[in-house]
Amino acid sequence: MTTNENMKELYQSVILDHNKNPKNFKKIEGHTHKQEGFNPVCGDHLHIYIKLSDDKATVEDVGFIGEGCAISKASASMMTQAIKGRPVQEVKDLYKDFHKLLTGKLDPENDENSLGKLQIFSGIWKYPARVKCATLSWHTMAAALDGEAGIIKTE
Ligand code: ZN
Repeated sequence: MTTNENMKELYQSVILDHNKNPKNFKKIEGHTHKQEGFNPVCGDHLHIYIKLSDDKATVEDVGFIGEGCAISKASASMMTQAIKGRPVQEVKDLYKDFHKLLTGKLDPENDENSLGKLQIFSGIWKYPARVKCATLSWHTMAAALDGEAGIIKTE
């Protein structure tokens, strides 16, 4: 089997697993930030809840609720795992790296990055409609941290 096929298989099993058993799939009591996100192309619709530490420097807790396709749900689930307990500055850097990965501007094998498990989304940039599903939760999370008003939509 080639590396590509291995990666594809890994991608599919991880997506299916997170879709079936999403992590942090809940509203966060006492959240400090929240945001609603909608992807009209696919119909993915979610709410993200973030609780920052008292000094606002760390993501203490994060959760999401909503409905969507397997990719949007799995991506949101993995996003919450990736940012929970992390400094806000690192979360913003991770968001930038993830966005680059999904738009084909970062090669996880050669470019330095902090993506870890999120690397399984490499290759998705070949499917623009799926990119919106995968980025929805991240756009929404970043907008929540920035305190943007209104619903976040993938354009
Ligand atoms: Zn979708």
